[in-house]
Amino acid sequence: MLFNNIKNEFPTLKNNSKLAYFDSAASTQTHQSVIDRMNLYYEYERCNVHRGDFHISKKVSDDCETARQQVADLLNTTSDKIMFTGGATEGLNMVAYWNKNAPVVIISEVEHTANILPWLAQGRTIDNGKLVVLPIEESGYIDPEKAKDVFRENPNAFCSIVSTSNVIGVTNDLYKLVSYAHEFNIKVCFDACQTISSHEMDMSSNTADYVVGSGHKMFGPTGIGFLYSRLGYDIHPPYRLGGGTVVSYNYNGNVDFYEGPLKHESGTPNIAGILGLGVAAEYIKFIGYDNIADRLKEIERWLHDAGLFDIPELTLVNRRGAFSDCRNVFSFTCNNLHPSDVSAFVGLDDVAVRVGKVCAHPIVNKVSNGKGIFRVSTHFYNTEEDCKNLVESIWKTLKKLA
Ligand code: PMP
Repeated sequence: MLFNNIKNEFPTLKNNSKLAYFDSAASTQTHQSVIDRMNLYYEYERCNVHRGDFHISKKVSDDCETARQQVADLLNTTSDKIMFTGGATEGLNMVAYWNKNAPVVIISEVEHTANILPWLAQGRTIDNGKLVVLPIEESGYIDPEKAKDVFRENPNAFCSIVSTSNVIGVTNDLYKLVSYAHEFNIKVCFDACQTISSHEMDMSSNTADYVVGSGHKMFGPTGIGFLYSRLGYDIHPPYRLGGGTVVSYNYNGNVDFYEGPLKHESGTPNIAGILGLGVAAEYIKFIGYDNIADRLKEIERWLHDAGLFDIPELTLVNRRGAFSDCRNVFSFTCNNLHPSDVSAFVGLDDVAVRVGKVCAHPIVNKVSNGKGIFRVSTHFYNTEEDCKNLVESIWKTLKKLA
């Protein structure tokens, strides 16, 4: 019932009735309520925040703090631990900056570029021992016991890993990984871009030190994201210096920063984005993670029944587990054809998939010998008809290119 006619709530799907959208790992669709909130701001409340005594400025300032609370509620934490960022990339760069003195940084072999380049920029390499890369299993998961061995060998390191890979799509055992890392005084950051829209991250029981997310991966706007910091923000030096972050300062170098996340949110914020992100967080909570999981499993079954996993030209990158994995990303290598050719042809049928290195070059190069992958990523607005159209279009393409 919840998902009947759900496409009507996502304007791009509603207004492109033929579009079979299987690119949610790149960006989820934006919910109507998010767009409405942003438009309300631009049409009736356009002003700057934190500076005005007039009605709309006070209201929008309050509403931005409500949005912070809405994100906090989704993560079951308090709003003083939530900071707004320009997206997950900015969040990961901040975490890297704040932890640049870690003797060793541990990542996994399925990281997004945004969780690799900031560490490489610090001069870390596998060869100089300042970067350690955790392998994944054939199932796509990080084996927590193997990770524990790596943690044991690298006490006091910093661990920054993707909670759900944008290539493999399975969600790691986050609780175990954090508790093992903490045993060896290793702080943990989760890149939760691909997790938040489908898996609960309850920060009242998960003791990860940082979590980053992006609005456009959770039915919200682009250009906005959040950073959760378990230890708050006062312990960190400001990442970017500018207005809105200080109580007072003088030319003698005395600078008194605000406490909490405001210390780091310099400049005029992405106000519409913040308001939209808050609504998106509330929307996910309203739908409920259990319902999302059930629906994603149903969609995986439709893909299965339509025959996606039986196309000889396409080989799934990692083994497919049980439906209970609640997975919404499926990447394939192409055996004879080039993924870009297949994508271009299915695109003509209004079927949206993604091909290439999907911003995760090391793992994609490894599994495809540099050729790139063909990625199908779903979300709860996909229908059985979309699944059939996808598979039909792939078959049509294969016949054309044969
Ligand atoms: N990490 C992962 C796993 C991602 O999928 C993405 C987006 N492709 C990012 C980080 C970067 O997010 P953003 O572009 O929103 O900053």
